Amino acid sequence: MQVGESRPSWIYCDHNATSPLRPEAREAMLPWLGEIVGNASSVHAAGRAARDAVEGARESVANLVGAEPSQVVWTSGSTEANNLGLHAARGSRPSALLLAGATEHPSVRELALATAPSQLIPVTVDGCLDLRFLCAALESARGAIVSVMSANNETGVLNDIPAIAEAVHAAGGLVHTDATQQAGRLPVDFVRWDVDLMSISAHKFGGPQGVGALIIRRGEFPQPVPLFLGGHQERGWRSGTLNISGIVGMGAAADASLHRLDHEARVVRGIRDGFEAAVLSTLSSASVNGRAAARLPGVSSITLRGTPADAVLQAMPDVCASEGSACSAEARGPSHVLRAMGLDEDAASSTVRVSFGYTNVPTDAGIVAQRLAHAYELVRDLMGCAK
Ligand code: PMP
Repeated sequence: MQVGESRPSWIYCDHNATSPLRPEAREAMLPWLGEIVGNASSVHAAGRAARDAVEGARESVANLVGAEPSQVVWTSGSTEANNLGLHAARGSRPSALLLAGATEHPSVRELALATAPSQLIPVTVDGCLDLRFLCAALESARGAIVSVMSANNETGVLNDIPAIAEAVHAAGGLVHTDATQQAGRLPVDFVRWDVDLMSISAHKFGGPQGVGALIIRRGEFPQPVPLFLGGHQERGWRSGTLNISGIVGMGAAADASLHRLDHEARVVRGIRDGFEAAVLSTLSSASVNGRAAARLPGVSSITLRGTPADAVLQAMPDVCASEGSACSAEARGPSHVLRAMGLDEDAASSTVRVSFGYTNVPTDAGIVAQRLAHAYELVRDLMGCAK
């Protein structure tokens, strides 16, 4: 898109990588990027104004995820929230086993792999956490720290977090959930889910990039267990001057997405389902990963066996979609998520993720399906495959 152009010339369906900033968030942020200054830690009038804005946003974000405002700690996003949450859990239980789902985001998975003792919990072919494996692991390791995402970023597959939390607590453990992909798209309820820690990120629900939150059950963590030493902001949990414009934008995006949650989920699900129906009826080799499981409304992980995903994506330049995930685009090798679901290397590297969201319109379903079918044929031709 050229600077100054108001409408992009592509169809954006990569909401799981990042969702465009909501107009409400942009409007709420603008004054804090211009005429208003103020450090929320300052005691003068400008500082108090900044603090009031931060506390208003804290209420909005707490409301979005069914938590109390006092449980919200601002972070730079979910990568930091995941690291802070698991750091706190490990700080309170230094020798506990860390159990993490095999399909977790790298910010959890790599931390688990670098931690001893730790274990990855496998998933079923549909991508859901294997509850039987979890329960068996909990039996032999009471008091474990368990991190399971509520919705997967590559497939949209949902986990039953209340059931997982119940099993973990019954075994005396602690639960962290990465709700980054679910918050603002489907209901999230920190209290009802009965988890101890939860991570969310503004840019997945129409807030700005670079701001997020860790939700902390205070009773479980009476003392802060910070990652950074220094300024004592956020009651000692997260030092550093607060990102006022980002936080205000996150609050406004939380209000807007909560207000439209049901409507947007219905519309987006219709677009995704229409897209999948069109793809499956046109391309006999296509399969949808996690289709039998409950999923986020907008996500579709499509394997087109034998056609490398990067080539297919290049062959549809006016559609913004991705291979596995934006994070895995910078990593080498096929998606660990798809491999954990049992796909072989060829299938995993022939998988495209399309993620629709609040900016998409019903006609996008057919257009994107058509582009995908065309790209598939083009790549097959280039590869010299027989028709
Ligand atoms: N967890 C999940 C499930 C994600 O999808 C992402 C973003 N791709 C993150 C964590 C990291 O979030 P952030 O970009 O805010 O660091």
